[in-house]
Amino acid sequence: MTMAAALRQAGFEVNRAADGEQCLAMARERRPDVLVLDLMMPKLDGFQVLEQLQGDPQMAEISVIVCSAKDYKTEIEQAGELGAVDFLAKPVSRQKLVDAVAAALGTAEVARDAGVDSDMVQVAEYNPQIRSATATTIRLWGTRGSIPVSGPDYVRHGGNTTCMEVVSGDTHILFDAGSGIRDAGRALAAAGPRPVHLFITHTHWDHIQGFPFFSPAYIPGYEIDIHAPHNVDKDVESIFGGQLDRAYFPVQMEDMQAQLRFADLVEGSLQIGDVTITWAHAVHPGAAVGYKIQVGDRRLAFFPDNEFLKGYLGDPADLAPNDERLAVHREQLAFLADVDVLIHEAQYTNPEYGSKVGWGHSSVGNACALVGLIQPEHWIVPHHDPDHTDDDLQHKLSLTRQILRDLGSSAQVSHGHDGMIEYL
Ligand SMILES: [Zn+2]
Ligand SMILES: [Zn+2]
Repeated sequence: MTMAAALRQAGFEVNRAADGEQCLAMARERRPDVLVLDLMMPKLDGFQVLEQLQGDPQMAEISVIVCSAKDYKTEIEQAGELGAVDFLAKPVSRQKLVDAVAAALGTAEVARDAGVDSDMVQVAEYNPQIRSATATTIRLWGTRGSIPVSGPDYVRHGGNTTCMEVVSGDTHILFDAGSGIRDAGRALAAAGPRPVHLFITHTHWDHIQGFPFFSPAYIPGYEIDIHAPHNVDKDVESIFGGQLDRAYFPVQMEDMQAQLRFADLVEGSLQIGDVTITWAHAVHPGAAVGYKIQVGDRRLAFFPDNEFLKGYLGDPADLAPNDERLAVHREQLAFLADVDVLIHEAQYTNPEYGSKVGWGHSSVGNACALVGLIQPEHWIVPHHDPDHTDDDLQHKLSLTRQILRDLGSSAQVSHGHDGMIEYL
């Protein structure tokens, strides 16, 4: 039985929305007493719906119950901070759902004038099982830049360094091997031997340091192809082998029992299953690239380290289209022009960037300028600065949304967090 049917059976008037955008439109029009809100919805996710509800005084009194399969501590805390009155883990029993709605109506009753209308419940639900059977899954296993962090200030975003997994059917492709790859490896090892492709954007520590803890590398039967940009100092195999040197680590590369193959990226595209991968140079010290991943007519780009508009400290709205600082990015802009989902850093706030020009990372303002130019549907910000706490990042996200609004961009923006799942 669907959640809507269970609530109808319990005597509530129920309206159902299929995605976040429809949910907001219906909530504005019909003002339900209670809204049961999924998190992983297309167009606008549940958190974006909550933010908009909270920001609108006319809708702030709607009691929201979040009901999601993502019942991580992060989501439960974030939902509470954004005003949700309850959080139900999905799948939820009929009784639990009805009880939660009845309890939420209790709080709604107090807030509104008696007898204004009958109890109306709106359910905004999206069934991820239906979509995940056909859609490509993007999973962020590590979203921190520079060095892993831990502690109470980093609980919501997580502290693992860069790693992303793209899953399309049986094809598993990993991007970067920061400390997040340890969790990715555990999940892959549990699923049994299979070919694994690992694409490295560049070989700075935060993008390779998890590889010695990548469990499939130790299991016979796994074949792991490692692709990385050509490095003039050392070949990629030596760089990976270097961190397994006896002076640094008790196990050496020859002890890894999977079949490891290393290759420099070459011009052109790589086809893995139904996934096409291309790359473009990133503006970052050393050999560094970003990737574009295409499945069918959907495209995702992954640029965790890229100093867009290097040295520009002005307002992104003031940039002339023919500014020479944009001209140097012509290749990147053409490469990213058709991207639906952009994963691109914005490591520094604008004031911080003033003293960090040339460190290889973008300011929020300059990353917004990039997003304004290429107009993806969704921008996910990874590679958070290790000095930025959860509260700092929440503040930074608000600033980012403000700058995008000022630029007239309609792109949705989210901050990546460890464990985040998106669909392409
Ligand atoms: Zn990095
Ligand atoms: Zn780097």
